Amino acid sequence: MVSINENYNALKESYLFTDIAKKVAAYSQENPDKIIIKMGIGDVTQPLIPEVVEAMKKAAAEMGEKSTFRGYGPEQGYAFLREKIVQYYQENMAVSLEPDEVFISDGAKSDIGNITDLFSQKNVIAVPDPVYPVYVDSNVMLGRKIVYINATVENNFLPTPDALQEGDIIYLCSPNNPTGAAFTKEQLEAWVNFAKKNGSLILYDAAYEAFIREDIPRSVFEIEGAKECAVEFCSYSKTAGFTGTRCGYTVVPKKLIFGGASLNKMWLRRQTTKFNGVSYVTQRGAEAIYLPSAQNNIRKTIDIYRKNAEVIAQTMEKKGIWYTGGKNSPYIWFKCPDGKTSWEYFDFLLRTCGIVCTPGSGFGKNGEGFIRLTAFNTYENTVEAMRRLEQI
Ligand code: PLP
Repeated sequence: MVSINENYNALKESYLFTDIAKKVAAYSQENPDKIIIKMGIGDVTQPLIPEVVEAMKKAAAEMGEKSTFRGYGPEQGYAFLREKIVQYYQENMAVSLEPDEVFISDGAKSDIGNITDLFSQKNVIAVPDPVYPVYVDSNVMLGRKIVYINATVENNFLPTPDALQEGDIIYLCSPNNPTGAAFTKEQLEAWVNFAKKNGSLILYDAAYEAFIREDIPRSVFEIEGAKECAVEFCSYSKTAGFTGTRCGYTVVPKKLIFGGASLNKMWLRRQTTKFNGVSYVTQRGAEAIYLPSAQNNIRKTIDIYRKNAEVIAQTMEKKGIWYTGGKNSPYIWFKCPDGKTSWEYFDFLLRTCGIVCTPGSGFGKNGEGFIRLTAFNTYENTVEAMRRLEQI
């Protein structure tokens, strides 16, 4: 007789994006002439850069020749890609890693969900509120105790450890989804010091690292001591438009020892058992991102989104609306004017401006009364959307 994992019953149904889609569909039907501008979903819109496409074509051709065909690759990822990542950390962040501290995966979401395998039921899980829902749901599935770290206007949506009573495993995301807020060095140091003092582990989500332009940390490992208390997840999804191509990596330092066990060894064991690696073609595509011309091109692509974010931020300033994000992130998180709830303002924006946003309440209780706008639409559409918003 099969007995199911009843923790799945504790998962909250997520209707956020289905409800948004339903409302948008109803509005389009009632107003067929209105042009709707979508600034809700966090998916990229710019194509892959030519260097990536060429590298993938070449790798696909290699797979079609007997002499260059490759079968199963290393579960941890090909050395050619891990070495490029190590070099990138050294050159851009002055962080020294070893290639066997880097694990290639099909994206950050899988690794963030899968890393829960390494920890026992006893751990208290601390997640920020508002939050990228994967941190919560992957722990609910295992019946873990979850506590919330309040992110609010008072702390600019960048909570400090003072707000935390307990937490063995702490999820941090900077630049943040959904708020776009990004930790300064001092703020991140406070978290690393807290984790070291309490024997906690930080699971650091750096999926939006490539959007950082100010002088703030791109990696948690820029903070002294972080290699003893943090794992870092990174993704090519937003860096290089890989949301559909699928590739990312996780850094698990060898200095991470808990209960006498090496997390690096445990993660390697986990991956070799349950994962068979990312396709050769994809990894060659990811490797091409590190070519100097490619770095230039991905920067240009990100600058398109950053320019959109600036346009949105300027409108918020003109209208005197409280907001965060937009500087080192493709997300702008703003407070609904007139004390409206997130869904009330969602309806208002859709009906008066034809703009689709994401209601902040979908990301946790502290998201109520806030809206997330994304900078992933075209420049023209973003300008038009903000023109409409400024008129109301
Ligand atoms: N982490 C955060 C904060 C995200 O917003 C996303 C995607 O939206 C991911 C991780 C997932 O990234 P990937 O596409 O690499 O799975």
